Amino acid sequence: MKKITIAVDGFSSTGKSTLAKQLAKALGYVYVDTGAMYRAITLFAMQEGFISEKSEDIRSLVETLSTIDLKFKYNEALGFSEMYLNGKNVEKEIRSLEVSKNVSRIAELEEVRKKLVNLQKVMGKEKGIVMDGRDIGTVVFPDAELKIFMTASPEKRAYRRYKELLDRGDKVVYEDILENVQKRDYIDSHREFSPLKKADDAIEFDNSDMGLKEQFERIHNYALRVIEKE
Ligand code: C5P
Repeated sequence: MKKITIAVDGFSSTGKSTLAKQLAKALGYVYVDTGAMYRAITLFAMQEGFISEKSEDIRSLVETLSTIDLKFKYNEALGFSEMYLNGKNVEKEIRSLEVSKNVSRIAELEEVRKKLVNLQKVMGKEKGIVMDGRDIGTVVFPDAELKIFMTASPEKRAYRRYKELLDRGDKVVYEDILENVQKRDYIDSHREFSPLKKADDAIEFDNSDMGLKEQFERIHNYALRVIEKE
């Protein structure tokens, strides 16, 4: 059967990665979490002292971008790929609230976007891929056969993220998460280069009041129909 490209875009914490992972597994496709790539560059910038909540030295970051090596390595036990920054597994660190607070400022930079979009295009050359992010259906794969745009209310999204961080042992306050989700949505949708917006041919999916199982079944069935027609 012919393989297709599936682009999953949308606001933060709408469950894009959960859905994309489930779809990839069911279809035998590769899953790529592009948010992890922006997060890893942000972590690098924080570690090098190029960015903090109060200051930023974007020029130095841009000058050192070519030294940053990003790789996904598949973890058999977990059943998904983890992000490696210059050879080190950073999967846990990149999910912290500190990284979340800085990531949208880093993702605004044209040079950062160029580097990552190029890498993403190479990863999807063979098709058979489910990629999630903010600009996958609009910029990375404008010809993707299936594009999904996910939304949910900011409160629902913040609560999901809050639970996720609590479950992994982080000490977080719900209001901080809600503020972060709303700030990121704003920056992501208003930035100059590849802002977050629904592609004209994407299917919009609001999962504020939908369980994971129902969501997966509906989109999986839809994906199978698209694949059959190809
Ligand atoms: O998907 P996730 O929430 O992990 O993404 C973190 C941040 O990375 C987003 O808030 C956004 O600023 C940026 N991002 C992006 N383009 C992508 C994926 C993520 O700008 N394709």
